[in-house]
Amino acid sequence: MATLGALSLVAAACGSVDPTIAGAGPRGVPTTLPPPTTTTTLDPSLTATEGYFQIPVGGADLYNVANGTVVQTIAQGLTLGFISRSGEWLEVVTPCGTTAFMTDTQVTPVAKTVSPATSDLSQLVLALDPGHGGRDWGGVGPTGASEKSINLDISLRLKQLLETPHEIDFVTGAITPGSSYPAVKSVLLTRSPDGPDGGDYELGLAYRAGLANAAGAHALISIHNNTVPTQEVDRPGSEVFYSLAAPDSDRLAGLIYDELVKSLAPFDANWSGGTLLGARARMDPKSGGDYYGLLRRAQMPSVIVEGAYLSEPEEEALLKSADFQQAYAEGVYRGIVRFFTTADTSNNIFSPEPFPDDAGTVSTRSCKIPSQADVTP
Ligand SMILES: [Zn+2]
Repeated sequence: MATLGALSLVAAACGSVDPTIAGAGPRGVPTTLPPPTTTTTLDPSLTATEGYFQIPVGGADLYNVANGTVVQTIAQGLTLGFISRSGEWLEVVTPCGTTAFMTDTQVTPVAKTVSPATSDLSQLVLALDPGHGGRDWGGVGPTGASEKSINLDISLRLKQLLETPHEIDFVTGAITPGSSYPAVKSVLLTRSPDGPDGGDYELGLAYRAGLANAAGAHALISIHNNTVPTQEVDRPGSEVFYSLAAPDSDRLAGLIYDELVKSLAPFDANWSGGTLLGARARMDPKSGGDYYGLLRRAQMPSVIVEGAYLSEPEEEALLKSADFQQAYAEGVYRGIVRFFTTADTSNNIFSPEPFPDDAGTVSTRSCKIPSQADVTP
């Protein structure tokens, strides 16, 4: 059913049908749909730019532009960004990165506000992106721990840190209660426990970046962990990938890298790593743009954090522990704070490396938009 829904959306967004429909549909459906503003579903530049809203309890209807019928009731707790607004119609980017329509009678849209640059943490809007979800597990450890679940746990710890005022000792890394570093204004999770299955659902990259764009976030931090190291190393093999397109992403990545390694290094493990440890970027040699679809679409300083190697037994054991997850979150937190409150930079920022284009981890064909029917009451 959900697969059929996704396919209908593909057809709808291709603009191959008359977008104008006559006659009132069920449940007071408006009589005329606005024409779609996009002509393809996976346009690399497709992103939500106008605002966002959360799906209320009970879900909300997603409409097929071809015939005005409800494709599905999308699950409560999800947040969707929208591309355009015409009367009561909102053209949204679905979690699968396709476009569809919804009405503002079921949701309360928040218009995007342009967030002025600030060093005041209490003014910050941040987007956190727990990597993978649903059928997309990401990496899997030797005992079966999934990256999607660990990424969400770390992201929730990071959200909690960002939403609480602190003192920070940047020499020791200690974070204690206090008021020198206030709570940020808001933290938006792309994948949230408010959604279905406790936050275990899949999302496309256009959706994830689009949400950060629609919220006018000051930074986008995507939380991941790694697999398949190429060598043993004498310190945590953390990598932080930065966006080539969004200015200052390299400085953000460098500071997060430095603080993350400070947090993780005291743990006892035979660390594994890749060829370069530090802040890195991957460039599509053809376009000169970002290899990573998420970073390519984000309109603010944005990074992908790969904290440790889930494929390695010792690191999997650490990643499953609360202490290590908290240390990971604290490292990223301090990096974010330094980025916004200082002019510091890092000595561990590498130049971009050529890398072929990334199509994304979720394909439109297989992606399922989370349905209210699957929400356990
Ligand atoms: Zn990942």
